[in-house]
Amino acid sequence: MKTHKETPEFALINQYFKQLTTPRQDVVLGIGDDAALLQVSEQSLLVVSVDTMVSGVHFFEDVSAEALGHKALAVNLSDMAAMGAEPSWATLALTLPEVDEQWIAGFCRGFAELANRFNVSLVGGDTTRGPLSLTVQIHGMVAKDQAMRRDGAQVGDDIYVTGTLGDAAMGLRLLESTQAFTAAQQKLVDRLERPQPRVEAGIALRNLAHSAIDLSDGLLADLGHVLKQSGVGASLQLEKLPLSTELLSVMGDKMDWSRVVSGGDDYELCLTMPADRLGDVAAVARAQSLPITRIGRIEADPGLRCFEKPGKPWYPPELGFDHFSSD
Ligand code: ADP
Ligand code: MG
Repeated sequence: MKTHKETPEFALINQYFKQLTTPRQDVVLGIGDDAALLQVSEQSLLVVSVDTMVSGVHFFEDVSAEALGHKALAVNLSDMAAMGAEPSWATLALTLPEVDEQWIAGFCRGFAELANRFNVSLVGGDTTRGPLSLTVQIHGMVAKDQAMRRDGAQVGDDIYVTGTLGDAAMGLRLLESTQAFTAAQQKLVDRLERPQPRVEAGIALRNLAHSAIDLSDGLLADLGHVLKQSGVGASLQLEKLPLSTELLSVMGDKMDWSRVVSGGDDYELCLTMPADRLGDVAAVARAQSLPITRIGRIEADPGLRCFEKPGKPWYPPELGFDHFSSD
């Protein structure tokens, strides 16, 4: 039987989600009806992506709700960045074991801070009971011929990455092994829990790049997707990889390349660009105060070749040469 009393779920939606993000003009109808009505521009392609985070799989159960709210949106914004898209709308499917209002308020703070930073409106979602799981679907827009794809890398392109690599993987290791953190260690943990999506860099570089991908599974695996889909190979110079002072200080003199190139959760961009755009790339890096570092080159010979120094090859221990160099 239906009553006119608000259900707890409805109250929750009204209290926390309805006004969570700043409204946009292109949201004709947002939260509250059976579906949202969104005005899509005629000049652009709609760019859509979805990511799910499951407790115990993608995050530790005791992580702060605010950090989770941030990360659930950040990993989706990173997909927009990799396409060169401007993010616009999000939907949020929340599965919660119980209604813990303090937790929900924290989650909303983390989500809203990032959404409002990138002018993203939360336009709908679903709220259900069950084991903790968060799904965000993100929508964005990009002019018809400006999207960056994984299949566009060309022989002779330089390979670049934004930011620094390996911090989040070290942060994960620290969370698993350490109780109290030094300032440097805490920064690495923050890189894991609060990735900064490179949306502005994606937009600024989309007319320079031939291809792009965001780094969620580690440089080798993700660059591998670009190489395969583009039908090319590459060589990487490990000594050029951008490493943070925090990572270097925590790692000490034991340089562990395999963690840097195989560790996940960097959420940086890896892009390939024609060699003659070096100056333009440097200008974007300066304008955004974001390192954008040249780390290798696209080659015709399939497979990925790593060098510790020029002429000194390096093979990742866990992958083995065979899987690594070709297929
Ligand atoms: P329905 O039963 O028609 O699916 P719901 O009761 O699930 O509707 O949701 C009511 C409204 O609240 C819808 O507009 C829906 O998009 C929105 N909504 C539900 N849960 C969330 C959430 N977690 N975040 C944002 N919007 C939500
Ligand atoms: Mg529903």
